[in-house]
Amino acid sequence: MKIDILSLFPEFIEAFFRQSMIKRALDAGLIEMAVTDPREFSHSRHHQVDDTIYGGGAGMLMQCGPLFEACESVLPQKGPRDRVIFLSPAGSPFTQDKAKELYRDYNHLVLICGHYEGVDHRVEEYLADELISIGDYVLTGGELGAMVISDAVARMVPGVLGDAGSAAGDSF
Ligand code: SAM
Repeated sequence: MKIDILSLFPEFIEAFFRQSMIKRALDAGLIEMAVTDPREFSHSRHHQVDDTIYGGGAGMLMQCGPLFEACESVLPQKGPRDRVIFLSPAGSPFTQDKAKELYRDYNHLVLICGHYEGVDHRVEEYLADELISIGDYVLTGGELGAMVISDAVARMVPGVLGDAGSAAGDSF
């Protein structure tokens, strides 16, 4: 299982990679995880990745260009076992069954974290295969959601839980 997270706050995600089960699984090569900052794909002089909302309204949106390019950099050729997920409060709810489905049906997840007022709608429409919400509330960014999904999926990979047990014994 490989998980790529696209986030404007890589340090936030990297701290998660350095803890507990995820760190041990990464060190043992049982899973692969990486974070990519869409800002690296900005073509503006000041690495800007936000823009005003074309239809009007308060706040800013994440531009789609840097997100499309960041996604292409981690997924140059999409196959049937690759899944691009946009974290959104308007997405379908994340459940244990969803975690099982992601583990069973895919071996590469790309998790896109929104920020600001959200993202340019083209990301939801043309880049993401599906939208997932981690709960009925609105967060500041998709990072917590990406970590929730990564944790729930990673613990299903054989060997990741080590001596701590097996996901088959979890209450769900
Ligand atoms: N204006 C947006 C709306 O009403 O849906 C909220 C944007 S929110 C401030 C910024 C980003 O946080 C979203 O694009 C999304 O990636 C993430 N986010 C917020 N709440 C979330 C949730 N419940 N589940 C997953 N991602 C969430």
